[in-house]
Amino acid sequence: MSRTPPPLGPGGEFDIIRRVLKDATPPGPEIALGSGDDCALIRHGDGFLALSVDLSVEGGHFVSDWGTPELIGERAVRIAISDLAAMSAEPLATLVSLNTPRTAGSGLAERIFRGCLAATEACGAAHIGGDLSHAADAIVIDVTALGKVVEPLLRSTARPGDALWVTGRLGAAAAAVRAWKAGGKPKDRWRRRFWEPPPRIEEARWLARAGASAAIDLSDGLLADSGHIAAASGIGLEIDWEAVPAAPEIETEIALAGGEDYELLVAAPRDIFTDDTTAEFELTFGVPLTRVGRAVSGSGVRVFRAGQEIEAASPGFDHFGDEG
Ligand SMILES: [Mg+2]
Repeated sequence: MSRTPPPLGPGGEFDIIRRVLKDATPPGPEIALGSGDDCALIRHGDGFLALSVDLSVEGGHFVSDWGTPELIGERAVRIAISDLAAMSAEPLATLVSLNTPRTAGSGLAERIFRGCLAATEACGAAHIGGDLSHAADAIVIDVTALGKVVEPLLRSTARPGDALWVTGRLGAAAAAVRAWKAGGKPKDRWRRRFWEPPPRIEEARWLARAGASAAIDLSDGLLADSGHIAAASGIGLEIDWEAVPAAPEIETEIALAGGEDYELLVAAPRDIFTDDTTAEFELTFGVPLTRVGRAVSGSGVRVFRAGQEIEAASPGFDHFGDEG
């Protein structure tokens, strides 16, 4: 494994990271993988410790009226642990830094923190530390997730000829956000999908054992996150519009471009995942495994509809998109 960071995909957020880290000192030999993937990897025993940190800010990532304080905490932990799943790592622990507005009183912090603890334990991990503050006038949660893995799935190891697969169905969380922002009330299953995304921990380990070559979790949307696999692996990805597994009543466009699903995009050598593989996956986990496209020589992500390349509405969620 190379300690050189894999290239990031397009986007204003990633332009900032690129500008700063080009001046960074490369990490020492204990660090098997630095920034640029879903987790950093530190050599440990026969394998690695996987580490990731994920920030949730009120007004940016969520609006508190959309859910309860407990759900705010749960979601922050679930999306942090999703990065462990993306490396096929097993969760060990979380650390949680939480700011709540001074005006909110201690009850809010306690309820959010309880949500963090519940999600941590539901994922088989232990809460091992953190920090609480009452300063700025917003809820801010920063969750560090720690896991262990022997053979990690990376973003940088997809190869031309690989097939691309997606777990579950896409678009429900984005549909919930869209409904809230329009002043409406999302369907219950959309709302649940936004607040309680399921980190695909066991699914990822299963797929790694079955021969997957690369993976990423879909935080920013299938299109945007495909761009990260393409950039990290130095290849192009082709996605078939008709194959995108949209959640019920969700338009393909939202399934393709909407973020927050926290399903997995996985590459695997062509023909390794057979009909038996997908049937067994669905039987084991209760969600589909869908072939959505292929890796090719070249760069970037292209979408095909009825065999013709189309201009897909792009990028998913980009916090700094107006600069990029
Ligand atoms: Mg990720």
